[in-house]
Amino acid sequence: MTRPRYVYDFDDPSGEGRELLGGKGIGLAEMTQLGVPVPAGFTITTDACRAYMASGGELPEGLEEEIDGHLAALEEKAGKRFGDPRDPLLVSVRSGAAVSMPGMMDTILNLGLNDEAVRGLADRTGNARFANDSYRRLIQMYGGVVDGIDGERFEDELSKLKEKRGAAQDIDLSAEDLADLVETFKRLYEDETGGPFPQDARDQLARAVRAVFESWDNPRAQVYRRAHHIADDLGTAVNVVQMVFGNKGERSGTGVAFTRDPSTGEPGLYGEFLPDAQGEDVVSGVRTPQPLAEMQKTLPDAFEQLVETMARIEEHYRDMQDIEFTVEDDRLYLLQTRSAKRTAAAALKSAADMVDEGLISREDAVARIDPDQLDQLLHPMIDPAADVEVVARGLNASPGAASGTIVFDADTAAERGQTEDVILVRWETTPDDIHGMIAAKGILTAHGGMTSHAAVVARGMGKPCVAGCEALSVDAQAKRASLNGHELGEEDVITIDGGTGRVILGPVDLVPPQINEDFEMILGWADALRRLRVRANADTPEDAAKAREFGAQGIGLCRTEHMFMAEDRLPVVREMIMASGEDERRAALEKLLPHQQADFEGIFEAMAGLPVTIRLLDPPLHEFLPPLEEAKDERMRERIRALREANPMLGTRGCRLGLMWPEIYEMQVRAICRAAIAVEQRTGDAPLVEIMHPLVGFGEELKRLRAMTVATAAEEGELEYLVGTMIELPRACVRADEIAEHADFFSFGTNDLTQTALGFSRDDAEGKFLTRYLEDGILARNPFETLDQSGVGDLMRTAVERGRSVKDDLKMGICGEHGGEPASVAFCHGLGLEYVSCSPYRVPLARLAAAQAALREAGVEAVVAGG
Ligand code: ADP
Ligand code: MG
Ligand code: MG
Repeated sequence: MTRPRYVYDFDDPSGEGRELLGGKGIGLAEMTQLGVPVPAGFTITTDACRAYMASGGELPEGLEEEIDGHLAALEEKAGKRFGDPRDPLLVSVRSGAAVSMPGMMDTILNLGLNDEAVRGLADRTGNARFANDSYRRLIQMYGGVVDGIDGERFEDELSKLKEKRGAAQDIDLSAEDLADLVETFKRLYEDETGGPFPQDARDQLARAVRAVFESWDNPRAQVYRRAHHIADDLGTAVNVVQMVFGNKGERSGTGVAFTRDPSTGEPGLYGEFLPDAQGEDVVSGVRTPQPLAEMQKTLPDAFEQLVETMARIEEHYRDMQDIEFTVEDDRLYLLQTRSAKRTAAAALKSAADMVDEGLISREDAVARIDPDQLDQLLHPMIDPAADVEVVARGLNASPGAASGTIVFDADTAAERGQTEDVILVRWETTPDDIHGMIAAKGILTAHGGMTSHAAVVARGMGKPCVAGCEALSVDAQAKRASLNGHELGEEDVITIDGGTGRVILGPVDLVPPQINEDFEMILGWADALRRLRVRANADTPEDAAKAREFGAQGIGLCRTEHMFMAEDRLPVVREMIMASGEDERRAALEKLLPHQQADFEGIFEAMAGLPVTIRLLDPPLHEFLPPLEEAKDERMRERIRALREANPMLGTRGCRLGLMWPEIYEMQVRAICRAAIAVEQRTGDAPLVEIMHPLVGFGEELKRLRAMTVATAAEEGELEYLVGTMIELPRACVRADEIAEHADFFSFGTNDLTQTALGFSRDDAEGKFLTRYLEDGILARNPFETLDQSGVGDLMRTAVERGRSVKDDLKMGICGEHGGEPASVAFCHGLGLEYVSCSPYRVPLARLAAAQAALREAGVEAVVAGG
């Protein structure tokens, strides 16, 4: 068996990819081969790291010899020898994984220096200050990375020395000062490790390589990977790079630059430079760096090279780049390039500009916008320039920011919300709070996860919500709250940022949503590319109008229960539930009918020309009654007890209600038909009506419900409409053929389907074991956030196949929250669904994600560079 090759020079044309060389390595290789000035060096592959980890810390066989060979070649190129005491070759040893994890792993600079070589370097360059500065940096970085010595220990010594010398900055220290510092650092090293600082260059290198491999598993890298859904077994590559020196004096320095402004996308170099500095000095804040314009004055030649090089790199990668560079005696070197992290606004502007400049195609522009990031632009945000004091944090449950006076109950929110901005603050919300949530600018809860009632409803409304804020305790009776030690009442103002989970005392300046031209244009391109249609989940004419504004092509889910919850209707709904017999029930329903009809008319008009799927009543009836303690009389208490179920999620709800009390669904069908006929008479356009029955599991259920629907509609007059069902039970998926017999369409309700397929009750799961599952890696992703494709997704595939086997023109879509999540949208595209439906605020994301799914199918991937 031949051994895999573990080491590649930057100028090796073998074209190995990012997976093997890591982002930093591939960037260095590509730049080298483009002819950009990059110091020479080589990359040890992620394969070697994986082998190292798999063996429990053994360098894979042959690696050391391979490194020796490449080191010899590097010495040749550099004209210097590694470990030479008179004129030493120095290198950096740098981590770099395939996926960018900025600052998470380790790097050591100036490797190869020792007590003798530092004098050689000083003699050679005639710059003892520089030589000593380089050596003290090596000891600190090596001590930290290889031996785990706390960096603070070194920093403290440096500060003490500066104080003693009256030096304001470290560049004010003399060559002798730095020689002293080297001695101090060496003593510190020996105290901490029990041995002297290693003097053998090859020994330093071997230990540094191991330490970088090991930095893959340091705690902060692990946390970062978890947060960004990066696999734990990728490993990091190691780059060994000849040192170039920015710390040689005023003609040298180091900097970072972007090819365009990463916050606005405006063209033009943007960055910072620090003269007489090395490595991370620019970002670490040891001194305040200068804007690049300053460098243009002091080092015009190097600046000129920088401008030219950046233009070349951007043209090569056809994307905004973020680079690290060093100037050594007026000569520019690039040390890293990667695709620049940018705000959503900058992403849109730069992509639109690049299409204009002919650098990329429209497809490329669409492919490279991160759909999740667009969320930033669709809600008011805290002014990035505002100075805010965060008093507590919770879950970033629904994006956007809001300031307002605290209120503790829904009624007060509804009342005061008419005239002022209020934030509803609760332990957690219930369906009873809906009117308060509608009136509030934002919602803050102490309990509950990302899919708690508050979070789901707020996201649906596009309203900011911070949930599960542990530092909050609420006394709703007394109308007081305590937030991280601050006592608050109904006179205090707070600000919440649902995009980050921040909670701030007092008001904060907000900036409005930024749906600008770039946004519209790129989404327009996306629309031309996608196959999936995008509908919205909307329950009111206002939501429908908002959805349309965001480009929705219909309503995929109009829930009727919210109409039952409205303040003026709840009493009538309760009357209906309390009715002693069918006649009394029908009388109450008769009163509700005109309200429902008016709601539907408004929605049909807002969605004129586009389909509207209306779901008949779904929740168990007891949700419309007050809690037992609050019931007003014995009769009501009795009814509440009678309706109480051990597991309402699996109880008398959905189409079971329609079969037990047909008059409820009859009233709803009647209201739908009357509304459709009225709107047609008024506007001349017949609404495209789709009547949907929830929670169907058996063909026989839908057969009967369809018959009821058709019979009721026939009584109302001439009307075209479709009858379909939610697919949200595993049985419905596996017997989709039986159900399809009676359905014109299927709509996957993936929230309930996830609960029933996994046997997870969402609220219990999120508050309890699911968090642990995710932390422990039992599950990689929260199945309520992104579709469990191999489980729930497989049930969906079965349903699609079996449904179509009976009816090949069966319309199919998805209306769970997953319908607005990019990976799930892509999955639905692959399944061949006709549409996805999501909350109005996620419609633009879904449009983009649908286009990206179509592009991926056609082989167009987002351009990504560097690492
Ligand atoms: P990170 O991934 O944290 O950015 P890097 O490996 O890029 O770490 O290196 C840290 C700093 O050291 C960067 O500013 C980089 O430009 C600089 N640096 C790395 N290697 C060299 C080198 N051979 N010569 C000069 N500076 C270097
Ligand atoms: Mg870097
Ligand atoms: Mg459901």
